[in-house]
Amino acid sequence: MKTLPSTDVLIIGGGWTGLLMAKELSARTPVSIVVLERGRDRRPDYISGMDELDFFVRMHMMQDPSRETPTLRHNDNERALPIRQYGAFLPGSGVGGTGEHWGAVYPRLLPDCFELHSQTVARYGEKKLPQDQSMQDWGVTYDEMEPYYARSEREVGVSGKAGNLKGKKIEGGNIFEGWRSEEYPMPPTITPYLSELFRGAAKSLGYHPYNNATAVTSQDYTNPDGVTRPACAVCGFCERTPCMIGAKAQPTTVLMPVLQKRKSVTLRTSATVRRIVHDTSHDTSHDTPHDPAQKGGKARGVTYIDESGEEVFQPADLVILSSYTLSNNHLLFLSGIGTPYDPATGKGTLGKNLTHQVAFGVQAFLPKPLNKFMGAGGTGVRIADFDADVFDHSNLPFIRGGMIGAMSVGTQPLSTFGNVPRSMKLPRWGAEWKKAAIDYFDRTGVVSFSGEQIPYKGNHFDLDPTYKNPLGDPLLRMTVNWRENERKMVEFMNEKMVELGHAMGAKEVTPFPGYADYDVTRYQSTHIQGGTMMATSPDRGVVNTYTQHWDISNLFVLGASTFPNSGSSNPTPTILALTYRTADAIVEKYLKKPGMLA
Ligand SMILES: Cc1cc2nc3c(=O)[nH]c(=O)nc-3n(C[C@H](O)[C@H](O)[C@H](O)COP(=O)(O)OP(=O)(O)OC[C@H]3O[C@@H](n4cnc5c(N)ncnc54)[C@H](O)[C@@H]3O)c2cc1C
Repeated sequence: MKTLPSTDVLIIGGGWTGLLMAKELSARTPVSIVVLERGRDRRPDYISGMDELDFFVRMHMMQDPSRETPTLRHNDNERALPIRQYGAFLPGSGVGGTGEHWGAVYPRLLPDCFELHSQTVARYGEKKLPQDQSMQDWGVTYDEMEPYYARSEREVGVSGKAGNLKGKKIEGGNIFEGWRSEEYPMPPTITPYLSELFRGAAKSLGYHPYNNATAVTSQDYTNPDGVTRPACAVCGFCERTPCMIGAKAQPTTVLMPVLQKRKSVTLRTSATVRRIVHDTSHDTSHDTPHDPAQKGGKARGVTYIDESGEEVFQPADLVILSSYTLSNNHLLFLSGIGTPYDPATGKGTLGKNLTHQVAFGVQAFLPKPLNKFMGAGGTGVRIADFDADVFDHSNLPFIRGGMIGAMSVGTQPLSTFGNVPRSMKLPRWGAEWKKAAIDYFDRTGVVSFSGEQIPYKGNHFDLDPTYKNPLGDPLLRMTVNWRENERKMVEFMNEKMVELGHAMGAKEVTPFPGYADYDVTRYQSTHIQGGTMMATSPDRGVVNTYTQHWDISNLFVLGASTFPNSGSSNPTPTILALTYRTADAIVEKYLKKPGMLA
């Protein structure tokens, strides 16, 4: 195996977190940085145009599931199978990562999400906690996170309206949000007709609607790094595609313009990291079983497969793992770093607290055309009256909640055609169905829900014992299912959403059928959390609150894999805020005195 010259910092993954860390470190220190990204630069594919078939149907931007994918099962007694079709989640591959085709919805987590266990117990007592739950506080609070959230909002350029400015509640913003030290950098994006109907309906029912915060420009915007982006053209090609004009914040439009000028940063594409090499690695044959007794030591660098297919060793003094939740977990398992979680004994931490997002919608069949071909990522109106613990759960059969809204992100005919009211009792074929589907194409509005899945002892990651990737490495295995808490939450929200749909003027609303088992075929957001969660002690988490690995002080982990629980909010604002926090810790503490920070 070829060994390359050493670098000071090695970053695995060139998505939101990896490139933000590269930007911060290169701005504030003289260290040499190598970023290894398994995919390529995809800008030439879309900069001069794109089409729906390629990007929405054939999923141009996504990781290829025939080569790299997790396996899935619902509980420890089942045999898992590889997920070979695009379904529940859509991770990306290539420069910018998933951040290129994300939706840009940009809400902060509510303050109590960081103290989920203690706040729930304080309000309702231990008895209210669902069976099998494994909730634990993060070790950082919202107050500590606030300045980092604000920094990330200025960097990516967020449009929105504050609902809680330094403790003062402001109608029109989300009055249930945590306090904010400053207003959003830009006013909200436009409110399309569907979302305006939702606002009226929500007000009529006594709720508190607000324009959603989004990292899409409502006007021309220049961020603190001097990167300028034009105002959004509301073209409707946003979520699942990159932006053709740069209005949506993407790592390639926000971070790459700065990084390209930094001589200390080398971005190597088509470089798939296979192992993090550390003191406790026994050999390089990759088949040594993990010995949890061997802790401590240092990361020495990584091995990766380069463009020619050759495996090379890249030595480094500091390793940053920022390859999205799935790869973060996968690489730690494959590298034998940390103690794998065992659900039978409760021992170990690596792989624990896997959470996804509770996400579904009801269809409202409305009297007037909605012009849904127009839209922008994250654009729309929501209510948070049923979010988190904003409402009293004392007499409800579940804890926590989420946001309800009508988003106008743009819809395309190939991928969304075919909805008709259920009362028509039509099969999904034939002349009558086609006519009705054309009739209703632009009159079907979705009222959507984005809610929390709390962590459970039985939901976790590990390595699959059967299936391997083309390199011969075991696939990552996900063991995940819904519990009664999510099922009851969905039932409750479904009713509220149908009521809202009718208040919007819908003649008919098709409710969501409800939750049975976790269904991998239905898209439910690419918000997968956990597995390398943070904690204030090594027996409770994989990383400390600076996201530094508890066993290996020169290894930091970035991304939603460090979340002990999900929120109802989309994760990227919290992911980027934590990345800033880790960057500060590395610059201000670690590089001055390498070692454990906590
Ligand atoms: C359709 C869609 C809509 C979304 N909408 C929103 C939204 O509205 N709001 C929100 O907050 N979030 C949203 N998300 C989620 C958001 O995209 C992610 O939270 C965010 O991109 C995570 O950043 P990351 O750096 O952790 O991972 P990524 O951005 O995925 O970057 C990880 C990078 O690591 C690379 N990599 C992986 N394994 C290896 C390896 N072994 N070697 C080298 N490189 C590797 C990948 O190719 C990738 O480029 C959405 C996601 C999708 C798919």
